Amino acid sequence: MQIAADLHTHTIASTHAYSTLYEMVCGAKNKGFTAIAITDHGPDMHDGPHEWHFSNLDIVPRVIEGVTVIRGIEFNIRPGGALDNISEKSLRPIEFALASFHECCFAPSTRSAHTEALEAVLHDPRVNALGHPGNALFDFDKEYIISRCNDCGKLVEINGNSFAIRKGSRENCTEIALLCKRYEVPIVVNSDSHIAYRVGHVDQALRMLEEIGFPEELVVNSSRTRLEAYFRGRGLHIFEE
Ligand SMILES: [Zn+2]
Ligand SMILES: [Zn+2]
Repeated sequence: MQIAADLHTHTIASTHAYSTLYEMVCGAKNKGFTAIAITDHGPDMHDGPHEWHFSNLDIVPRVIEGVTVIRGIEFNIRPGGALDNISEKSLRPIEFALASFHECCFAPSTRSAHTEALEAVLHDPRVNALGHPGNALFDFDKEYIISRCNDCGKLVEINGNSFAIRKGSRENCTEIALLCKRYEVPIVVNSDSHIAYRVGHVDQALRMLEEIGFPEELVVNSSRTRLEAYFRGRGLHIFEE
């Protein structure tokens, strides 16, 4: 299994990341990817960009160095399931949005508090995918949430970075992937890279998916055709501009 695009990456707009947008695009080009989504952190994170970063994203060329650039955001999930304080106007250019738990915006709490927050996110139309749900600090009722993703039109992310930095994530990611397989929930496999050299680093995640016999047709970013179909289904023609 391979991926054809990385849909979760950060630039120096979040200051704990170290590459420019152009460098990230070149990282994707070096991997032979057809597309990259730039998904900087929502403004509620301490070093996330001001919301104007998002409102101005439509000036980014659609294609740079032969790579299609998708304008994105990684929302911070707040207790109760609210997302970053950001205006609808600023979100207008956004084409792909993940929503994730981060300790700075949501102190790890109980399993039921995490589940309740994710349920609210499932019903938030601004969100495309649940970001790094394998994070062991934020245990939740996986079957309850995953089994509802299709009804709510949400993708589930298997996050390559989790395998490297989030302790206990491997077991959680495997459990989540098995549930996605059982409930036929489409997933995205992303690097969450914070530097250009790590764009597309998802080898461990792909190996795990192969080990459990995860169907490739459910991996939205496994081919340009599947990616195109996903966005077309949302009225976005990212490869046709
Ligand atoms: Zn994150
Ligand atoms: Zn991230």
